[in-house]
Amino acid sequence: MELTNLSQQNDNQEVTRLKQRIAELEEQLALVQTENPVQINQEVQEVRDYLNNVFVQSPMPFAITKGPGHIFELVNVRYEQLSGKQELIGKSLREVFPEFEGQGVAERLDEVYRTGQPFYTPQFPVKIARSDGILEERFFNLTYQPIRNLQGQVEGIIQVGFELTAQIQAQQALQRSEGQLHLITNSLPVLISYVDKEQRYRFNNKGYEDWFGHSRAEVAGKHLEELLGSEGYKVVRPYAEQALAGQTVTYHSVVPYKDGGTRFIEASYVPDFDEQGQVKGFVALVVDASERKRDEENERFLAQASNLLGTTLDYDTTLHNVAQLIVPFLADWCSIDLVDEQKGFRRVASSHVNPGKQAIVHTLFEHYPYEPGKTHPFKELLHTGRSQFFPELSEQQLSLIARSPEHLQILRELDLKSGMTVPLVVRGQIIGAFTLAITESDRRYSQIDLKLAEEVAHRAATAMDNARLYQEAQTAIQNRSEFLSIAAHELKTPLTGLQGYVQLLMRQLTKTGQLDPVRVERALQAISQQSSKLNKLLSQLLDVSRIEAGRLLLEPVVTNLVPLVETVVATAQATTTEHTLTFTAPAELEALLDPVRFEQVVVNLIDNAIKYSPQGGPIGVELQLAPATTICLTVTDRGIGIPAPHRAHIFDRFYQAHDGNYLKGMGLGLHISREIVELHGGRIEVETPEGGGTRFVVYLPLTYDPAAG
Ligand code: ADP
Repeated sequence: MELTNLSQQNDNQEVTRLKQRIAELEEQLALVQTENPVQINQEVQEVRDYLNNVFVQSPMPFAITKGPGHIFELVNVRYEQLSGKQELIGKSLREVFPEFEGQGVAERLDEVYRTGQPFYTPQFPVKIARSDGILEERFFNLTYQPIRNLQGQVEGIIQVGFELTAQIQAQQALQRSEGQLHLITNSLPVLISYVDKEQRYRFNNKGYEDWFGHSRAEVAGKHLEELLGSEGYKVVRPYAEQALAGQTVTYHSVVPYKDGGTRFIEASYVPDFDEQGQVKGFVALVVDASERKRDEENERFLAQASNLLGTTLDYDTTLHNVAQLIVPFLADWCSIDLVDEQKGFRRVASSHVNPGKQAIVHTLFEHYPYEPGKTHPFKELLHTGRSQFFPELSEQQLSLIARSPEHLQILRELDLKSGMTVPLVVRGQIIGAFTLAITESDRRYSQIDLKLAEEVAHRAATAMDNARLYQEAQTAIQNRSEFLSIAAHELKTPLTGLQGYVQLLMRQLTKTGQLDPVRVERALQAISQQSSKLNKLLSQLLDVSRIEAGRLLLEPVVTNLVPLVETVVATAQATTTEHTLTFTAPAELEALLDPVRFEQVVVNLIDNAIKYSPQGGPIGVELQLAPATTICLTVTDRGIGIPAPHRAHIFDRFYQAHDGNYLKGMGLGLHISREIVELHGGRIEVETPEGGGTRFVVYLPLTYDPAAG
């Protein structure tokens, strides 16, 4: 407060002092003027001329306008040159430069004139018409200074300018090219920087912002170590020093990343030399090759998995090897389970990077296996058919999976961090699942890991399916050759018999010129027997090929089954004396079915009952209605029976359960019978009756429904 007062006091004193001095000078001037007016005028003129010359020759454009209309009173050469206009004196600014109107030039002058406030701007864009009339943008450092008369009123304006157009244009061009450089370098998926010889960043593209999370302005001027941290700098330093020693360096390395993880980089440092050949700095190009490297590793991993899967058809071993491959590349723990009809899932492979945790994994599987209705990662997998992905296995998630506190405890002991279960799908059917988990490191599964695990599972499933198809094809080929040899053999036996009898008769005829009627009768009987066997075999072969082609067609008619079966039983009885056939049936039992095909089934079952009870004995044939809409036909013998392991297969093509000489056919009879029964919508079963032997039971619906077949 005191200070301000003091300075104001000083100012006032100074003003009073100056006023006094002016009054003195004016007094002296008046004195001098009256004493020597001519000389004074001359001196004033000289000063004027001098000033004029200075102004006229000034390299800066200069003009003085007068009055509110801004009439040019003085214009220097430079002003004329720059404006491209001449003979301006006496003309108004608006008249000479109509283009100034609306650009702020004329308006600013008006304002200066009106307010008496000078106007200054370091960079003012002005559009000036060229001689050809085209407006050209030019930049000026401008000052409009008001000129006041002795009364202090504004009567004119001094315009002084300094043209900056060339500098501004150069600056703009530089900015443009810098902008382009940024645009280009920013659009590249690489980190580009210029590092000076003090190892400080001088230029960085946007890649640095993304990588380090700092803006480019923050990075500029920073030392390498400051940005990369001591760990990163340790890696980079020797290469930076080499580059600053004038060498071009290329290297790859693993460096820390902002998320706490690491990245695989490929870097090139190219030194920058000055005219004297001294290194000024270097350009660094850094590529984040982590993804490419990971893709390569993943590809290699998949190739290895495929190799493994292709080596053997024994899937338990192969899947075990695949689990070994997955650990540790893709998981710390990997288990592979296959769907098992009885147990839900059967564990075929399990591997843990930490042998100590194998036992925990085992306990988990033994004590908390998949069971329908209970919590288990396989539950959702089976329900949705899709992988279950748990990138972050939190305590909360574990407690959702756990069935009991003990279960949770085991899961905790495993230290599950991240996990996934991936289905093994063959032809739309889930045949098993892969379980993968991270338990030992801070790694977390990503979608890429999930895709990779799914790809391995897919390849495993495909390989398993291919192996199954291969095995099936092999079995089919084997069956076919077996069939051919059986068929050839079976067809040959009756044919040889036939031939034998014919030759026998012919020999007799050649030798004696006549035939013995007794022998002829016996031979003809045998020939008839063999040809009907031949006929039966050929019919069976034809039936099988019809079945395979889906062309075994039924011709159903309403049939009384009682006399039909009765006739078959009687005919069979006529062929044997060792067996006693009995037939039990209601008085009448009508059904809609193909009588020829049904008879074929009955004949086959009764023939088998005779064939496979070589010691003879009773054979019971029973026809009944049970329950109300189902016909039940049973054929029971007391023969050699069918050993349990064979029972499931006796309806298969060419399957024969016994080795001995039982006048066997080709193992086709039961296969054809089952097809016929099933085409009628029924079923055929085999059982061992009390007291031994074999019983076949045929169930047929009373009414044939073609849609059911
Ligand atoms: P095959 O022409 O060989 O008799 P099938 O298809 O009729 O062929 O029978 C298949 C196999 O089932 C037979 O080879 C035989 O081992 C067994 N089998 C069929 N019926 C009986 C039966 N009643 N008792 C014991 N085994 C039987």
